[in-house]
Formats: sequence, structure tokens, C-alpha cells
Amino acid sequence: MKTEPIQPARIAYTAEAQPPSAPAFGDIYHPAAGALAQARHVFLGGNDLPRRWRRRDRYTVFETGFGLGNNFLATWQAWRDDAERPQRLCFVSLEKHPPRRDDLARLHHRHEVPHLAAQLVAAWPPLTPNLHTLSFEGGRVTLLVGFGDITRLLPELSAEVDAFFLDGFAPAKNPDIWDCRVLKGLGRLAAPGATAATWSVARPVRDGLVEAGFRVERAPGFGSKREMTVARFEPRFQPPRLGAWQPAAGLERSAVIVGGGLAGCAAAHALALQGWQCSVLETHAHPAQETSGNPGGLFHGVVNPQDGAHARFNRTAALHAARAYAALRAGHDIAGQWDGLLRLESAPDGADAALAAMQATLDAQALPPEYVQAIAAADASRRSGLSLRLPAWYYPGGGWLRPSDLAKALLASAPGVTWRGGQRVAGLRHDADGWELLDADQQVLARAAVVVLANAHDAARLLRPTHWPISRVRGQTTSLPDTTPGLPHARLPVAGSGYLLPPHGGQVLCGATTQPGDDDASLREADHRYNLDQLARLCGAAPQVPLASLAGRVGWRCVSDDRLPVIGPVVDESALGAPRQRLDHARYVPRLPGLYLYTGLASRGITWALLGAEVLAAWISGAPCPVESDLRDAVDAARFVSRAVRRAS
Ligand SMILES: Cc1cc2nc3c(=O)[nH]c(=O)nc-3n(C[C@H](O)[C@H](O)[C@H](O)COP(=O)(O)OP(=O)(O)OC[C@H]3O[C@@H](n4cnc5c(N)ncnc54)[C@H](O)[C@@H]3O)c2cc1C
Repeated sequence: MKTEPIQPARIAYTAEAQPPSAPAFGDIYHPAAGALAQARHVFLGGNDLPRRWRRRDRYTVFETGFGLGNNFLATWQAWRDDAERPQRLCFVSLEKHPPRRDDLARLHHRHEVPHLAAQLVAAWPPLTPNLHTLSFEGGRVTLLVGFGDITRLLPELSAEVDAFFLDGFAPAKNPDIWDCRVLKGLGRLAAPGATAATWSVARPVRDGLVEAGFRVERAPGFGSKREMTVARFEPRFQPPRLGAWQPAAGLERSAVIVGGGLAGCAAAHALALQGWQCSVLETHAHPAQETSGNPGGLFHGVVNPQDGAHARFNRTAALHAARAYAALRAGHDIAGQWDGLLRLESAPDGADAALAAMQATLDAQALPPEYVQAIAAADASRRSGLSLRLPAWYYPGGGWLRPSDLAKALLASAPGVTWRGGQRVAGLRHDADGWELLDADQQVLARAAVVVLANAHDAARLLRPTHWPISRVRGQTTSLPDTTPGLPHARLPVAGSGYLLPPHGGQVLCGATTQPGDDDASLREADHRYNLDQLARLCGAAPQVPLASLAGRVGWRCVSDDRLPVIGPVVDESALGAPRQRLDHARYVPRLPGLYLYTGLASRGITWALLGAEVLAAWISGAPCPVESDLRDAVDAARFVSRAVRRAS
């Protein structure tokens, strides 16, 4: 999917009692009779809510046109007020011109539901393209908001929608959002028995809904509108969902996760938030003792001129991580620093040319400064307290943290997770009842219909695939006492070729080596030398110290062939190769029932762990997917099979 730069909403403020308007569309955001009153009458009432969501586990609403968020706020308030509310409310909404946070704050400062409006304003993301997940009520209310054109984003959504709120500016003023192809796209997302409501009774809207498989009726309208449209999804034919994207439905909602590093703990957290009971089986007694046991690591986004899958996944993940980690930090001790990170850019044609190219990329993609800024070396030096010679990407939401603290916080904040340390899974067995996880004596450690292999490289030993697209890349870090003469002290984490963290607990961490195919677990002086040389290149200074005195740590990154994580149901290799079998897209590749992979976190586990886990949890539970479909394809565990088939043909 090609990324489109986001143009924020231009909002005209009128007299106090008048609704704000959008000059670009020549329309008001809501009727003068009240945004929340309209939401309650047209969208909640028109979809027979709250009655229809009662006693449901999850209820999903989809809205065309987020506007200023009043329909979301009214729905959230109705959910809070209802004693029989669903366990989880997912509100999915698309908006081409989202409001800036300042506008939202100004418009909502005397809101009818002030406590909810204030939370929405506080969580409002930087206006970067595509999907953002905002989480409220301890994860029970989710707003999945997509910034961009609906015709581009709607086909990229994976969700099963119970109620549609068709809003947006009037069909005559904003025909795109009411286009019959958009309305048809709703049918693809509709759950059995889904309903829709809109204040519009325009003929093309009603006809479009009928064509999309809805039975439409008129109902009394709101305010000055005599009538509105309500609809029920009753299609003559609904194509079945493709196998690979089917949630693990009909099963009792419990899963076993193998591996208690960042991937396993994040997977347990994400599934628990979807109401699943999880057991985490881990060889070590405590979480995050292997690669995730590093004393510190960086998290931040990525910018590249093409804005390909790698940059997009990193952007969504970094913004999501910054929000989620801020919430986790409020209740848990997580060592780290959260107020920005610098990533130096190489400058083969000089610093000025590099900075100009960086700024041109930001301008072309209209990436907002709350996400990333291109800054000159002098500015980077001022922020970091170092003497830097290269321009830098400054990520205000980036930082560093101790991964084991994060892993523990994820487990501690997830209801219904059982930690089973000291349990090494030696084998897997499948029968009609599901999966058995075996120890070295072939004794059953656990049984489950759903198993997630989050055990890094060891997943290959359990699966024995014919092709394993993930390599082990050794990395050694170096730690020095912060009193070491000549050691630079950074105020912010700085990365480039190598990285340097600010002093913490009397130590300064720098690193790291990158050594594919190297299995040596011992600390090597040559690698400390390499790290200090990198440090000197990074910030022009490195201490002269006896290498034998240095501390450090060795770990192995799991790096996939395309440097993206590996997520989703495991390929059923025994079902490959049938005559005329279609395998050119991951969605056609046959999978093993109930067996999922979550690995390949490379050197980005801190940034990716949570978003990747939520993609996995959506896959398993059927919740709306937090990334666009093409991005999910890009991380799908079956992509290597379909790619090989495409290359061969
Ligand atoms: C030197 C170095 C520097 C890094 N720097 C950064 C950084 O700055 N930022 C960043 O984001 N990332 C960084 N990373 C990468 C990051 O550490 C990883 O992406 C992340 O830790 C991977 O987490 P994981 O859970 O997939 O793997 P692991 O942490 O290795 O967890 C896998 C777990 O599975 C368990 N296990 C394995 N087999 C079994 C079995 N059969 N039964 C039960 N349990 C099993 C293991 O004991 C282990 O606890 C760095 C990595 C290295 C090596």
C-alpha cells in the first residue's frame, strides 16, 4: 500500500453555541442540536445499542469519519453506563483529515463527558498515516483509528463488525466517503446480523447499502432531520473467509506460550487483554534471561524515503510502544529513559546535503515533529551533551529501557497469565484434541488447542521445517563504570553505527557487535575493542581502558531474511505441493491448526514486541487487526513460502 501524507483537519471555530465547521467541505461537524445527542439517537439508537451488545464478549463498531470523536465518546460513555456491557468494546474509525491534538483539546475542553474527552486528547497520536491503537479502561475499550483516505484504508482492515456508524460530511459535500465501493466494502467486514445507521436518507446511500447486502429502512431522524436510515446485513451470499485468516474460533480461550522472553511475555499480555487464559512455559525460572536479558536496549521508529513495510511497521510499533510503555511505567518499575532518542544519519556527501535530504523525506511524507524531526549536528550535540558531527533523526517518543523489566511488567499487568518457569519444551505432538507439549522424557508438560512458539531459534528445533528463514546473529555489548576517564556521558540514547546509552546505575552501556553464524557464548576482548571503536566513531571520543577489565553480555538476535518479525499460524508443510495448489499469496498457504509462531524480533524486540503480539492476538482471537492487511502479510509466517513460489513462477 502506498502511503499518503496526512493533511490535518482545518477547523473553523464559530460562535460559542455553534458547531465547528470544516471549510474544505463547506459543512459543519455536527448538528447544532448536539453531537452527543445525535450520536445517541442516530448511531447508538439506530443500531439498537446498548441492547444488542449485552452479554457479548467483544463488540465491534466501525465508523466512517472520526471527525472530532464525538460518536466514539458517546459510545464509550454508553458502554460505561451499561451494567450488561460487553467485556470489550472495539471502536474502529477512519478519518482522512484528523484533527490536531491542540484542536481536539480546544474543542473538547468543556465537553459533556469531560473525563473521557480528556483521556482521548491525552492519548491522541501524532498524525502519521494508517492505523493507531489507543487503549482505554485497562485495555477493555480500544479505539483503532486509521488516518488516510477511506477508499485506500477500508480494504486494508481486518475486523468483524457488529455495528456500522455511517457519518462524515454530507454526501453532496463529501461524496467519496459514501461511494458505493466504500459501502460495498462494509459488507466484507460485516459480522452475521450486523446493523448500520446513518442520519442520511440520500438515495445513493440507501441504494449502496442495499447493493452491499443490507436491508434498509427509514426511522425517525434527529433534530431538523425528519428521517434517518437504519439497516441490517442480510446478504444473499457471503464468501467464506480464507483459512489462514480465520481466528482460532470455537475453541476454549486458553493458550500455551513457549518462551518467556519479550516475545512470549508480550504475547501473553496481548492474549490476556483479549480475555484468554495463558500459561507461559519457560526453560529458565524467571522471564527474560536469554536475549531479552540485556541490561538496556533502544526503541524508536524508522524513516526511509520509500516508506516500505519496514518503515511502516516500525512507525506503528514505535508510536504504539511509546503510548503503552508510558501506561505500564505508571504501575511498574521499568529502568529506562523515555524523552527522546537520536539516530545519526550517514553523510557521504556532507552534513548539509544529508540534512537537506532528510528534511525532504519528512516533507514528502508530511511526518509530524511529534514523531520525528531531522536535526543538524549542532542541535543533536546540544540535546545529547555530546560532540556529534552528523545530522540526526530525533524521535521524541523514543528512548531506552531494560527489557527484563518490560517483560515482567507485561506479565504482571496481564490478568489470567500463569508463569511456569523451569519447564523446557522438548517436543510437540498433535492429535484430535490439540497440541501436547512434551519434556525430554516425553512426559506431557501441557495440553492446549492453541500454542504460540515464542521461543526464538528453538522454534526451529521443535518444528523442523525444511526451510527456516531466520538466522542467529551474535551480539556483544560492553558496560563501563560511568566514572571511567574519557567516557562520554550522553543525555539521550544515541545510535548510528553502534549506540551509547546514558549512564544508569553507575554504568554506561554501549554496543554492539553483529556476527551472523557465530555461536561463541564467551565475552571477547576483540569485541569490546570493536564496541569502543564504534563509540569513538559515533561521538568522537572513547576511553582508553584495559579491555580485560570490561564487562558485557552476549546474546543472539533472531533475524529473518527480510528483517521483519515472523508472526502467525505455522505453515503445514505436509499439505504443500498438491497439484494446481495456489500458494502465490500467504493467505492460500495451508496452516497447522492452533499452532502459531512469534519470533524474528531481530534487534528491534523492544519496539516491536507489543505490536507484534497484538497482531498475533488479533489473529488468534478474531479481534480487529492493529495493522493494515498488507503489513500483516509482510510479517506473516507463511510469506516465505508464497514468495518462493512467486519467484519460481
Ligand atoms: C547485543 C544485542 C543488542 C540488542 N539491542 C537491542 C536494542 O537496542 N533494541 C531492541 O529493541 N532490541 C535489541 N536487541 C534485540 C532484542 O533483545 C530481541 O529482539 C528480543 O530480546 C528477542 O526476544 P525473544 O523473546 O524473541 O527472544 P528471547 O529473549 O531469546 O526469548 C526466548 C525465550 O524462549 C525460551 N525458550 C527457548 N526454547 C525453549 C523451550 N524449548 N522451552 C521453553 N522455553 C524456551 C528461552 O529460554 C528464552 O527465555 C538486541 C539483541 C542483542 C543480542
